[in-house]
Amino acid sequence: MHQSSSYMDFAELKAALHIEDSFDLLELTMKKRGEAFRGPCPTCQSGGDRALVVTPSKQSFYCFGAKTGGDVIALSAHIKSCDMKSAASFLAGKGSGDSSGNNKAKRSTVPKERNKEATRSLQPLSYLEPKHHLVQKAGLDETTCVYFGAGYAPKGIMRGRLAIPIHDTDGILVAYCGRALKGESPKLIFPNGFDPEEYLFTALQAPIEEITLVRDPLDALIASQNGVENVVSVLTETISADQLKLLADLMDQNEASSIELY
Ligand SMILES: [Zn+2]
Repeated sequence: MHQSSSYMDFAELKAALHIEDSFDLLELTMKKRGEAFRGPCPTCQSGGDRALVVTPSKQSFYCFGAKTGGDVIALSAHIKSCDMKSAASFLAGKGSGDSSGNNKAKRSTVPKERNKEATRSLQPLSYLEPKHHLVQKAGLDETTCVYFGAGYAPKGIMRGRLAIPIHDTDGILVAYCGRALKGESPKLIFPNGFDPEEYLFTALQAPIEEITLVRDPLDALIASQNGVENVVSVLTETISADQLKLLADLMDQNEASSIELY
């Protein structure tokens, strides 16, 4: 075996292979759920039989077991537990060679416009940096940050952290929480006078049947970035009575029949 010298064009491969066409190659058992496919993750073997989420419209996946996501090559790397290059080789070798790749609908990575409230009690921070290298290192891309109004805070009380806006149930900006990006403790900080037990961080994009509940708002953002549509984060270690009520209201509004907890 000599070192492979063949040039692999990741972009070309992705254009030719739809993420949903990789299920058979990767021996994944995925079931269609609304716009997405869900199934167990054979790599993590945790998170239950719906840990893996693949969203064809975004050509992306997210694994709740590993809290990781990405494109079809990243999915292959996750399932095969290998690096991206080997994953791409695997897909290229087993791929159908479908030449109709050019017809593929252009991926939309720009989420729907968020409802803008006319009145805000707090002005959005204008100085946040959505493409700061620490934000990218945490797995968040600029588009997601801009969409959710999050970004690296170079100054202010959230300095050095990822500032994530928290809204009340009317969509009014009430505070920013600061998520550690360098392993600082505590992981989340809040401004004085703000009680995180009274709020949830919601990354809701469309009314669907299920709400996915995670603890860390960064996980919510990354899951959302990778196509998981209705993710809610509690901002605290435990779930307060106020938060339970907010969740119940959210379920009503979204006609959600269940909440999945990760
Ligand atoms: Zn996994």
